[in-house]
Amino acid sequence: MKEYLQTSEEVLLELKSRSEGLLDSEAGKRLEDNGKNKLTEAKKDSLTVRLLNQLKDPMIIILMAAAIISGITAVYSGESFADVIIIMAVVIINSVLGVYQESKAEKAIEALQAISAATSKVMREGEIQVVKSEDLVVGDVILLEAGDSIPGDARLLDSASLKIQEAALTGESVPVEKVINALNLGDEKDISLGDRKNMVYMGSAVVYGRGSAAITATGMSTEMGKIADAITQAKENQTPLQIKLNQLSVVLSWLVLGICIFIFGISLIRLNMDGGITGIGILGTFMVAVSLAVAAIPEGLAAVVTIVLSIGVTKMSKQNAIIRKLTAVETLGCTQVICSDKTGTLTQNKMTVVDHFDLDEQLLGRAMTLCNDAYLNNAEKAEGEPTEVALVNYGFSLGLTKSDMEAVTPRVGEAPFDSGRKLMSTVHKMENGSFEQYTKGAPDVLVSRCTSYWDGSSKRPMTDAKRQEINEFNKSLADQALRVLSAAFRSWDSMPVQQTSKYLEHDLCFIGLTGMIDPIRPEVKPAIAECNAAGIRTVMITGDHKDTAVAIAKQLGIISDISEAITGAQLSEISDEQFATDIGKYSVYARVQPEHKVRIVKAWQNKGMIVAMTGDGVNDAPSIKTANIGIGMGITGTDVTKNVADMVLADDNFATIVHAVREGRRIYDNIRKAIQFLISSNLSEVLAIFVATLLGFIILKPVHLLWINLITDSFPAIALGMEAEEADTMNNPPRKSNEGVFAGGLGIDVIWQGVMVTMVTLAAYFIGHFMEVGVWEITNSPDGVTMAFLTLSMAEMFHSLNMRSRRQSIFRMGSHNKFLFLAMAASLLLTTIVIVVPSIRAAFQFEPISIMEYFTALGLAFLVIPIVEIVKFFQRKQERKQVV
Ligand code: ATP
Repeated sequence: MKEYLQTSEEVLLELKSRSEGLLDSEAGKRLEDNGKNKLTEAKKDSLTVRLLNQLKDPMIIILMAAAIISGITAVYSGESFADVIIIMAVVIINSVLGVYQESKAEKAIEALQAISAATSKVMREGEIQVVKSEDLVVGDVILLEAGDSIPGDARLLDSASLKIQEAALTGESVPVEKVINALNLGDEKDISLGDRKNMVYMGSAVVYGRGSAAITATGMSTEMGKIADAITQAKENQTPLQIKLNQLSVVLSWLVLGICIFIFGISLIRLNMDGGITGIGILGTFMVAVSLAVAAIPEGLAAVVTIVLSIGVTKMSKQNAIIRKLTAVETLGCTQVICSDKTGTLTQNKMTVVDHFDLDEQLLGRAMTLCNDAYLNNAEKAEGEPTEVALVNYGFSLGLTKSDMEAVTPRVGEAPFDSGRKLMSTVHKMENGSFEQYTKGAPDVLVSRCTSYWDGSSKRPMTDAKRQEINEFNKSLADQALRVLSAAFRSWDSMPVQQTSKYLEHDLCFIGLTGMIDPIRPEVKPAIAECNAAGIRTVMITGDHKDTAVAIAKQLGIISDISEAITGAQLSEISDEQFATDIGKYSVYARVQPEHKVRIVKAWQNKGMIVAMTGDGVNDAPSIKTANIGIGMGITGTDVTKNVADMVLADDNFATIVHAVREGRRIYDNIRKAIQFLISSNLSEVLAIFVATLLGFIILKPVHLLWINLITDSFPAIALGMEAEEADTMNNPPRKSNEGVFAGGLGIDVIWQGVMVTMVTLAAYFIGHFMEVGVWEITNSPDGVTMAFLTLSMAEMFHSLNMRSRRQSIFRMGSHNKFLFLAMAASLLLTTIVIVVPSIRAAFQFEPISIMEYFTALGLAFLVIPIVEIVKFFQRKQERKQVV
């Protein structure tokens, strides 16, 4: 029979389970029999498909055309097939590397997803355990609370005002209130999914209340599994930088095509007029055009960017910042405003009651303990939400043990806590058959609902003077940065007929206040100072009282005066226009409702700011989604917020956000260094070929350029991505999010550095020819080609050292980059092998060179270091002048 038509007892019986949950051994056995509670993912592309995908790249197509034409030429002219083999080898290596780096990036993201995998609270062996949601089995009794994602299909056993958002399944956007009794079919054959009010389904989420449920289906047997036979993992979007680079390569490809046609045309004209480039025909001319294409397209760039990003996110995860969307890495570097929750992110969320105000401390302790979802475990240690834990401990210190009290006066009804209302109530059955309601919450909300107060022995009517006294005490506690909670009670002769806030929470009798300390996290103050230096504004947003918030914000250096703080109520009074002009004044928002958070984010964004926003509660999802960087909390955060976040903090710590921003800036800077390195290299090659063609000789062949672009340049480029951050990374304002890749003079640097490398390469060509034949002349020279190749690749190697910093002298860098030194050594070795080992040398059509020539080439290449150092020196001087 269908579970929703049965009573919960019948369901448990059928599932061979109990309300205390399964035994561990039974759960293990069921997991083995039925498999993990997972939806099967769409099959990934096979290796062959992935390899074939790589061949779609226009660059690869040009190369294959070149290989075919070289092959045909070789057949007709009887020359060797070396070119064909080298080009094909490069194409294959490039495709394999492409697939490898793609899968590496995928694996990095998968590993991160595994870290942030969902967990569920489940009853096993009569105790509450937290297990991975994928390890749940049919018959498990799960506990649900606001913010949880439902991990499987389940029949409700218990519900305290549970409301479930089922839009993903039914399309219904209004949360559904749930019941626990068996449903009746009536005349219908079946009950539709949306009307099965005693069931909850995988893929929906708890938005309010608490409850428990027995799992009836897991994995692909769930309703969700039936709809989506296989869900495709959302494809990782490309980051803005990757998109810009793709656009760049499209532009480059067209440009190259244009230049190729131009060069091809010139060469053909010269061929007709004066025999053209000595000794080559139309096919040779075509190969010149191909080499130009090879020279101009930055083949390694996309791979380098992906590799640097994926290494970066893995590193960030080790520092507790778990990136869920690759795009976040770049956006982090542009962050201008960080809006942070107070409790748990700026503070430790380790609360202890240190002060109280009442006329009957035992009653205060009783109310705070009973109106509370935390509990004492077997070791008499309180577990649950930190505010509530503090109160259970407080009661315990007064000799009140929660479980003993609940045994005598059990909870029979409740209106669960919700951060909008800032109150919580429970109803308890007394021994004499009457009912007592306890309500606790924010004093400013609760006191206004009290019509009387408890004087230790009887109820007295609430007076203005008493209210004043309570408010003053509240303020004195809040000014000491304490979180203040108040408690009240209400007596009922019979069970209250409704369990709603509206019905229960008025005509209350005030009992007292507790003040609890929540120490600030010591690492946060320096992190905020770092943000200030880095031009990033820190904004505190909290549900807590204004005075508490202000006291803590002052301790942390977020504000210096109370005029920089505003409450949610005051914010509601301000028009959008007014808020747009005033937003700069406020850095503390107190007593806010979740919807205020969205308003704050949008107001900053309307000013063109890039905003990061943290959130933990179920109502924070909209603001996290709206923010440019939505940040979820790994420890205290709800599933709902974590699922929409761009980044999750494994340690809930504000300082981790600042580390992540620093990493974001470092990674972006490094990618720019790699881009500058690779593109200036491409430019130098294009210019060299252009000049050579105009002068009528061949300086480098396609295979030579391919070798440099794809082999010897790639290692230093990746190594540049691993540079440590520069000393001033967090002393500069954030970069503008709309800034192009070549902003800040990078374009100009690329151009002059490209010209510089061209000059040394051309010089090497002529010197090489001169050293061999003893005359200076413009002609085709195999010795010149050899020297030009050696100098170009070594100049690139030295230039990678220059790229460690855009402005700083490389002799003054505080850090070392061992990867770069290894990469440079690899470049040097590979280039030397190509030049020295006879068979490889022959395949590349190089001439043997003397030691003298070898060191001449190296010396010419080395020139790029002093030249760049001198230019950097003047650039620094110039920039200092601009600052003054
Ligand atoms: P932040 O937004 O910085 O995390 P917060 O944790 O104080 O701040 P909420 O959890 O929304 O924000 O709490 C808002 C207010 O509700 C608290 O200041 C407190 O007065 C009251 N409150 C918090 N927890 C409870 C609870 N368990 N029972 C009753 N009232 C509570």
